Amino acid sequence: MEIRTVGIIGAGQMGNGIAHVCALAGYDVLLNDINQDALDKAMSQIDKNLGRQVGRGMVSEEDAKAGRDRIKTTLKLPELGQSDLVIEAATERETVKDAIFKDLVPHLKPETILTSNTSSISITRLASRTDRPEKFMGFHFMNPVPVMQLVELIRGIATDEETYKACLAVVEKLGKTASSAEDFPAFIVNRVLVPMINEAVYVLYEGVGNVRSIDEAMKLGANHPMGPLELADFIGLDTCLAIMNVLHDGLADTKYRPCPLLTKYVEAGWLGRKTGKGFYDYRGDTPVPTR
Ligand code: NAD
Repeated sequence: MEIRTVGIIGAGQMGNGIAHVCALAGYDVLLNDINQDALDKAMSQIDKNLGRQVGRGMVSEEDAKAGRDRIKTTLKLPELGQSDLVIEAATERETVKDAIFKDLVPHLKPETILTSNTSSISITRLASRTDRPEKFMGFHFMNPVPVMQLVELIRGIATDEETYKACLAVVEKLGKTASSAEDFPAFIVNRVLVPMINEAVYVLYEGVGNVRSIDEAMKLGANHPMGPLELADFIGLDTCLAIMNVLHDGLADTKYRPCPLLTKYVEAGWLGRKTGKGFYDYRGDTPVPTR
């Protein structure tokens, strides 16, 4: 089936990036959130990012404007019913995602493909609570979406080949590269990456290093472009904690125990860049380590 319209649920840091790349690739985009402020912020972020791409000569001014014009926003979830492809990118909480699919499904066309950008929740389980497990997939973008090349495509146990191929064609049209993963907790990238971040938080918690020394060590010693704590702030500490909990619950192995210090930062509302403070405080001109 040909995909022309893409509905995106959740206009946070991932949703705005997904809307951006889909619109630039020529899809009509309907972006939904429960919060008008999130929709307004998403549109101004998209304007800023498109402006940066134009400034760097990566996108022409006409293409940026045409892309921008293809994005509409709505607070009403049923309006996404006419989409050919839905990408859910709301908060990483299973109850939130289940409620969204429950509300949306009665409004969908029978052929619509439903996907989730979840970082870690079982695709098979999310799919089983919809009316179309065979047309359900994990469509996992990386952050920041306009910059990162990879999309993980995750087949649930019931996902059919036609759905996989249709999603693969979308990834290619976006100019990105797909990597296929089986549906086990956190898939490939986060199964490897987030326990490493959690270990860096343990290293901080145990006093082996401070925020700056841990990040410097991994940048200069392992050639990582960002330190693990800087990266955690970028991803969002709530998202990192949610992924560790999914790994811990889903694989039942104590090696995935979330670090108590990570939990404490999340409890404090220090969620990283998106709240202005995480392992670094971003409220001044330059980020200041909190430990
Ligand atoms: P975020 O907190 O920036 O944004 C989440 C958005 O979802 C918010 O704007 C919130 O208002 C909205 N929302 C909550 N409930 C909703 C509902 N019922 N209907 C519509 N919108 C609703 O989070 P994010 O970082 O953009 O993450 C979104 C999803 O993408 C999560 O599943 C996360 O695991 C996944 N993801 C995140 C990253 C990352 O690096 N942050 C990377 C890949 C995938």
